[in-house]
Amino acid sequence: MQKITIAIDGYSSCGKSTLAKALAQRLNYSYIDTGAMYRAVTLYAIQHQLIEPKTHEINLSGLLEALVNIEVSFQFNTHSRSSETYLNGVNVEREIRTMQVSENVSKISSIKEVREKMVALQRKMGRSKGVVMDGRDIGTHVFPNAELKLFMTADTTVRAQRRLDELSSKGQYYTLEEVKQNLLSRDYEDSHRKENPLIQAKDAIVLDNTDISREEQLEFVLKLITDLQLTKDRNASMASK
Ligand code: C5P
Repeated sequence: MQKITIAIDGYSSCGKSTLAKALAQRLNYSYIDTGAMYRAVTLYAIQHQLIEPKTHEINLSGLLEALVNIEVSFQFNTHSRSSETYLNGVNVEREIRTMQVSENVSKISSIKEVREKMVALQRKMGRSKGVVMDGRDIGTHVFPNAELKLFMTADTTVRAQRRLDELSSKGQYYTLEEVKQNLLSRDYEDSHRKENPLIQAKDAIVLDNTDISREEQLEFVLKLITDLQLTKDRNASMASK
């Protein structure tokens, strides 16, 4: 079967990365978490006082100047069997998932130059296909020709509860309301920014997973992929005759 590109976009905390990881594992594809890349740049900005974490005020010229020094990469951890995020060679997988980073990431990701740098990297990482990439602008901007585009959503309270559970499993405690407000404000900022906002691609398949299990969702998408590949292979063999 020919390898394809799978683009998964959607709102915050609706299980994009869970689905993307499971698909990558089942298909033996690589998985690229583009949110982690914007989170790593945000962590750098916080660490270098280029953003004021409470007011979210950005030292834009300082950040633009620093961009050449920011290197984001991924390495597969064979122990945890997952891909982990590195910022200038340091594993920051844990640090980028804090609430402080979540509260500042939408500001950083709205900067044109930051997006240009990350998108160029994402296109390079995904150029040989056989990739599952999740984010906000993958099907609309990064890989507009992706063979499969999914747009994920779920009820806001359900999403907030999932995120709250994830944070508390890592020893970070917040109220459901705090987490919900963060999701809503990120969704708003991500959908209303000028540069590559979060919008549903016209040819995306919408997945609302409020009431379906991870397993049901995975099986549904795997079936979509099999059907798609069969059609692709059939078309390729007809074209070669
Ligand atoms: O996916 P995750 O919630 O980790 O993404 C964190 C943030 O990174 C989003 O809220 C958004 O501001 C930004 N992002 C983006 N474009 C992407 C992926 C993430 O702007 N492709």
